[in-house]
Amino acid sequence: MSDLRSINPSNGDIVGVYPQLSEQELNQLIAEVNSEFDLWRRIPIKDRCKYFKYLAEAIQIRKDEFARLMALEMGKPLFQGIGELDKCAWVCDYYADNGEKFLADQTIKTDASDSYVSFQPLGVILAVMPWNFPFWQVFRFAAPSMIAGNVAVLKHASNVQGCADAIEGLFIEVGIPNNTFRNLTIDSSKVDYVIENPFVKAVSLTGSTSAGKSVAQKAGSVLKKTVLELGGSDPYVVLKDADLDIAVDSCVSGRLLNSGQSCIAAKRFIVDINIQSEFEKKIINKMNKQKVGDPFLDKSTVGPMVNKAAKDELAIQVLKSIDQGAKLIYESDIPKSKTGCYHPIMVLSNVKPGMPAFDEELFGPVGCIITAQDESEAISLANQTVYGLGAAVFTSDIEKGKEIANIELEAGAGFVNDFVRSDPRLPFGGVKESGYGNELSSYGILEFVNIKTVYVR
Ligand code: NAP
Repeated sequence: MSDLRSINPSNGDIVGVYPQLSEQELNQLIAEVNSEFDLWRRIPIKDRCKYFKYLAEAIQIRKDEFARLMALEMGKPLFQGIGELDKCAWVCDYYADNGEKFLADQTIKTDASDSYVSFQPLGVILAVMPWNFPFWQVFRFAAPSMIAGNVAVLKHASNVQGCADAIEGLFIEVGIPNNTFRNLTIDSSKVDYVIENPFVKAVSLTGSTSAGKSVAQKAGSVLKKTVLELGGSDPYVVLKDADLDIAVDSCVSGRLLNSGQSCIAAKRFIVDINIQSEFEKKIINKMNKQKVGDPFLDKSTVGPMVNKAAKDELAIQVLKSIDQGAKLIYESDIPKSKTGCYHPIMVLSNVKPGMPAFDEELFGPVGCIITAQDESEAISLANQTVYGLGAAVFTSDIEKGKEIANIELEAGAGFVNDFVRSDPRLPFGGVKESGYGNELSSYGILEFVNIKTVYVR
């Protein structure tokens, strides 16, 4: 069983080595977490919420340190790391403030003397999480699930075990009862084994569609619930009456956040033919103001890709698309480094169905322009994907924008005149191969509870 390693994507240095848990250690740890469940679920919800208030404070106090850790392990520019940690504090506060209300019993009038619905926790929940938002993904799972009374084990991505340990450390620091949240230092080959563990009652996975399918299959075989937040190829539909400055700003922000490595990145710009040349000029101009560089430097807006394999895969997707007729209309500079995993910012035009840049998820700083003859072709191209996570439409006709975002686009979220992002107050989830189930908002807290009927004669 090989050790897990964190490798600095800016220079290839090894920043941490983490021996994996044996099966015996895993069984022991999961049993310890399970034994905490009875205590944790009986702590009044007000007090469970208080711990998440403390977590929000502790995150704020140490956010510089954690942003540096993310930059070191996965290359996120520091200012974006700070933004991510602010959001973690927000989601903890949000559920601490609203959890009790969301989970209050609901009386339903029937012929009983009393009948109501209550929301009971399930037990140990396994969270399988990705490296791209190493703190956010964990807290957006943990805050609602644990305030609902569940206990949790985290299998974080192999390359961000430093972040995983830091998160576990935060739970200990704020005094949450020992073993209500534990980190499992294992790689993905051990996930099936953990799902089989009888103490584990459900699984939340955020990651690629292939990982989601594998986990769903295993969990299905032992009848355990899953929530799956998977890949995406979000279309940004730019209609001919759009405010092009707003559209271009949103496309650039939506594409480049986290160096392009985000599930809800703007992966396909679908642009009306009448405004395409103006859109192209403006997007090149805006992309040219960005800076690919060392994530520790203030001026860097795009860092390295997470590792060499990811960089090479993106380069192949781009090359194949160009071979099939896509045009490279912009390419940025990158730092001169033999060992850094830097990929230039690029813009491809003339992207069409059948090319990797259209059909696959491009997980890096490459914008793809697809020409639409009119609104109806734009909508049809937007939906021509196996994914259905986010989508955006740009138009000065707000009513038309709402209609397209709400009714026409096949996605878990439809934004009008803005880039797609998550917000603790709004549900987040996908359709099609982007997964199922919801996180965040009042809906997210109900994913890992037993919605129980109580009937009194
Ligand atoms: P990934 O390879 O699927 O890894 C995600 C997590 O799943 C890691 O902990 C990984 O462990 C584990 N894993 C991988 N294969 C598995 C398998 N067959 N069985 C069980 N666990 C498995 O994804 P990634 O490359 O880290 O992240 C990028 C993907 O995540 C993109 O597709 C992106 O769109 C998606 N994503 C989705 C959301 C969302 O909310 N919808 C948010 C962020 C990212 P190891 O690290 O040990 O391999």
